[in-house]
Amino acid sequence: MKEDIVQKRTELSNVPERPEDHPMLVFLDFTNPDEIKPKLLAAERNRVSFYIREFPVYKSKGYSPLLPDEIQVVIEDPIEANNRVIGSISRRIDSGYDSYAQLSKTYRKEWEELLENKLWEVARVIMGPLSYTARTLVPTAWGMGGSNWGKGTTAYDDDEDLKKLFGDGIVFIRMNLVKDTEDDSLKRKRFLIHEFIGHAVTVDLRADTPIDENVPKCSHQPDKEWLADEITAQIMYRMGYYQNLCDVPRQQMSRKAQNTTKQSFYSENEELKYPGGIDLVIKEIVEKLKSKEVKSDK
Ligand SMILES: [Zn+2]
Repeated sequence: MKEDIVQKRTELSNVPERPEDHPMLVFLDFTNPDEIKPKLLAAERNRVSFYIREFPVYKSKGYSPLLPDEIQVVIEDPIEANNRVIGSISRRIDSGYDSYAQLSKTYRKEWEELLENKLWEVARVIMGPLSYTARTLVPTAWGMGGSNWGKGTTAYDDDEDLKKLFGDGIVFIRMNLVKDTEDDSLKRKRFLIHEFIGHAVTVDLRADTPIDENVPKCSHQPDKEWLADEITAQIMYRMGYYQNLCDVPRQQMSRKAQNTTKQSFYSENEELKYPGGIDLVIKEIVEKLKSKEVKSDK
């Protein structure tokens, strides 16, 4: 009997409590490799296979997702590339387990600081009430720098095993991102907000629009990134991490989209046009993009 009670308590403590009023980012416990390695393998396998499949699309959009060397050399032959997936991923997870664990730990610290600094209170002022969704942060060796990989993205929706392991989805962060001179802690915080709040939390609002989360389905990638970057900039500025809104770094490419989508986010005096109404911002961006498309068709 006693053992039963102890066991139940342990199980309970492993399940993070679901917050009542905001989405949740979950971190893996790397202390047990036997439990974590199969999860990493399933996640990396899905991810690398996706990038093999969509490589031509990414290439045509000017992206170069990182792939294992064994796969990179046969990328023109997707069957052979997929044959090599499991071997190359297993080797990397075995040899690099500590760096997977380290990334998770480093980002967890940043996330906890953000939560302590009232992240969700600030996000709500800008975006409004946020419906519940959860993502697990999974370090990755490949692909693009960061990705929201969850419900509403094709690679995830089609993989039953992955859904069983990770529920609503994954936020991937690549381990070997190039370092720059900027404060790494600020960069990591920006990354987490961009991927989790900018992308994951707004997925449903953007489904089947020109700014759909799926890159292959998304006809206006820069606008999608601009939106995620601007949400991130607003949150970090209002949390006090930057003195001016314009000090928050944005992606180079997303600036191109500013002129078309900025009017949906800001009123003329640079105030939020729809404070607490991110759904309305997205609706207006989508309308603008669609009407532009119709015009250019003529
Ligand atoms: Zn992004």
